[in-house]
Amino acid sequence: MSMQIATRDDGCVTLSEAILADFAQRLRGDLVRRGDASYDDTRRLWNGMIDRYPALFVRCNEVNDVVAAVRFVRDHRLRVSVRGGGHNVAGKALCDDGVVIDLGRMKQVKMADSCETVRVQAGARLGDLDEATRPFGRAVPVGVVSRTGLGGLTLHGGMGWLLRHHGLTVDSLLALEVVTAEGECLRAGVDQHADLFWALRGGGGNFGIVTAFHFRLVPVPPRVWFAAVLYPLEQAREAIRFWKAFMAEAPEELSSFCVLRGGMPGLSGGGRERQPVVAFLACYSGPPEQGEEVIRPLREWAKPVADFSGPRDYHLEVQRLFDKDYPDGRCYYWGSLFFDQLGDGLIDRIVERAESSPSALSSVNIWALGGAMNRVAVDETAFGKRDCRFMLAVEANWEGREAFAANKAWVGNFLDGLRSQSRPGVYLNFPGAAEGHENLVKGCYDTNLERLQAIKHRYDPENVWRGNFNIRPSCARREG
Ligand SMILES: Cc1cc2nc3c(=O)[nH]c(=O)nc-3n(C[C@H](O)[C@H](O)[C@H](O)COP(=O)(O)OP(=O)(O)OC[C@H]3O[C@@H](n4cnc5c(N)ncnc54)[C@H](O)[C@@H]3O)c2cc1C
Repeated sequence: MSMQIATRDDGCVTLSEAILADFAQRLRGDLVRRGDASYDDTRRLWNGMIDRYPALFVRCNEVNDVVAAVRFVRDHRLRVSVRGGGHNVAGKALCDDGVVIDLGRMKQVKMADSCETVRVQAGARLGDLDEATRPFGRAVPVGVVSRTGLGGLTLHGGMGWLLRHHGLTVDSLLALEVVTAEGECLRAGVDQHADLFWALRGGGGNFGIVTAFHFRLVPVPPRVWFAAVLYPLEQAREAIRFWKAFMAEAPEELSSFCVLRGGMPGLSGGGRERQPVVAFLACYSGPPEQGEEVIRPLREWAKPVADFSGPRDYHLEVQRLFDKDYPDGRCYYWGSLFFDQLGDGLIDRIVERAESSPSALSSVNIWALGGAMNRVAVDETAFGKRDCRFMLAVEANWEGREAFAANKAWVGNFLDGLRSQSRPGVYLNFPGAAEGHENLVKGCYDTNLERLQAIKHRYDPENVWRGNFNIRPSCARREG
């Protein structure tokens, strides 16, 4: 049966059954079309708010499938999106009426014989990587929820429990395998396509489809000291002030964020975890015998509601501690801002706004940046926000799609009210619904934008990869 598919300039083309059958026959993976029995399951994303209807999914088993899919899309000028883990909160993995190139089956993780590096296919989850690296006492610095997709997280930076000790996820990249808009396979690294290597470390999915990442591994003790100390939400203002001062002096081996939340169900503790709290969460990835002492002030600041701190298996416990808090299908709307300072007035406003959340599942996280992330110069990779001291992530998490407007308004008003004190742009891994697209991208990349546009022109002059946080090619015809 023939089918209609959207083109990248917002038109539409009808592809015959013969064309589709010929394409399917060239794949090791398979196609899922609108109307197929598995279509609804296939288009489901982690964020239950996203409801998009692509025409066709190409479920790739291997790189040749990705190449075939890219050429198919190019030949027919089709609208396309790329799906890694499908966890981007704005649902960028799917495009309405177009083709989704789905990497979710490409999850192989292979350690090098030296145990110093690892090659990971781009459909892997963070947990796949943690499982493979654990036996070697090594890790890649990734995010804090093990079920998250690695592809999108890495291409937009990647922040987690090793941030201050070992930097962003992109800072551990040695090379990437890429399929370009022309269907060509390239390897980008310091001495091959160095411009592309620079752009992919923060520039997102704008330059091609990454099929595999090569990372340098960092050493991580099998057990690390982890702080999870909960204080009553009424003490939030003083708690954040204390935490800020503490983190200013803390060793770089300590990465931390301070959380305001209606409860911490991911931590178990006989019900105490369900009361509104301000929590200090921190991971010490230096020598384990020092960790207890380093985190002690966080535990002794006042009388806690609960204290779940202790030595934990880094890969199997710390990295999975919050998995339960973010189930598939719940509704999510997350935004973010970067700050140079966290003054008293700003702290007061953050707490005030956090208290007005319409959902008890929501969470306001203040990340302490700095350390290794700061030591890389702003123009050394495309990621533009290295020199900020704090990131604020405002997460609306709720049940029931009908509450979207209230939750979106909460996040929107929260961030709008603080924007005048923040740096321009957001963290593209916590982008809201990506409204105000052009300004968003400009603010995020800042002084790196012009260079990114030139590289975009070189690798994707027709802006095939546009259904993302789009960097337009310099000198390109504006097509939409
Ligand atoms: C529960 C949860 C916890 C999180 N915690 C953290 C955290 O601790 N730290 C952090 O930094 N982020 C965190 N994030 C944000 C996360 O980094 C983003 O959601 C990210 O998009 C996830 O990657 P993905 O592969 O699932 O993205 P997808 O939704 O699949 O894709 C997102 C975008 O990236 C593009 N893309 C993805 N893979 C490729 C590829 N291989 N080649 C080209 N383009 C590609 C897509 O086209 C799309 O535009 C968290 C997200 C969730 C859901």
